[in-house]
Amino acid sequence: MLKLRLLVFALVVVGSAGAQADESARLFQYSTINALLHGLYEGDLTIGELARHGDFGLGTLNRIDGELVAADGDFYQVRTDGRAYPLAPEAKTPFAVVTRFTADRTLPVEGGRDLAAFKARLDGLLQAPNYFTAIRVDGRFAHLVVRSVPKQTPPFRPLAEIIGKQVKFELTDVTGTLVGIRTPDYMAGLNVPGYHFHFLTADRARGGHVLALTTGSGTVAIDEIAVFEMQLPRSAEFAKIDLSGARADEIDKVEKVKD
Ligand code: ZN
Repeated sequence: MLKLRLLVFALVVVGSAGAQADESARLFQYSTINALLHGLYEGDLTIGELARHGDFGLGTLNRIDGELVAADGDFYQVRTDGRAYPLAPEAKTPFAVVTRFTADRTLPVEGGRDLAAFKARLDGLLQAPNYFTAIRVDGRFAHLVVRSVPKQTPPFRPLAEIIGKQVKFELTDVTGTLVGIRTPDYMAGLNVPGYHFHFLTADRARGGHVLALTTGSGTVAIDEIAVFEMQLPRSAEFAKIDLSGARADEIDKVEKVKD
């Protein structure tokens, strides 16, 4: 039988200038962003299985039934009512990324920065941009625009065609946890190039996929990751769909556009 669980690569830098990636840090990904964009919305990985690979991360649920956010080993589904619901271990995901978060370093967050300025600040902090990076911010946020996506029914349409049904929420002066994954650009097609943030309020009652934010006071923790493991869906549909190309325009529409 074809072994579908692939250890895609392991880059552990020995003595190279600047790279601080912890050798034990590992990013686990289920399926690919291109498969999700294509409309492959039903995966065979349970949240219970996903949780064995990490305690921190993001993704979605089968049938795009909301946003998946994990922090401190707790896995939540943010539905289109904007509320976060604890996930049952038997719930399944079609796309998720997790790691066992351990901060390489922690710094204060300056307030008053919008998402672009915050990303630029993070860019300046990264010591090894060719690695994956998990980013966690705990603190106060002056403002956030978050979204969730309604559950789909088959036959599934490509994600760019259904994203207009996303439901947006504004959160003002909230405390919470920003859960971020930064994927190097050369990984386009596998994951979302650049920064991808989900959010949970401190009381874990609300959250979503972040479309905009303004920082307040808090701390940012950075975890640079050199080992990447990817598990692909065991389905006839995944086996045959066209996964070529970077689909950059669709990713911008689905993940990054606020309006
Ligand atoms: Zn997202």
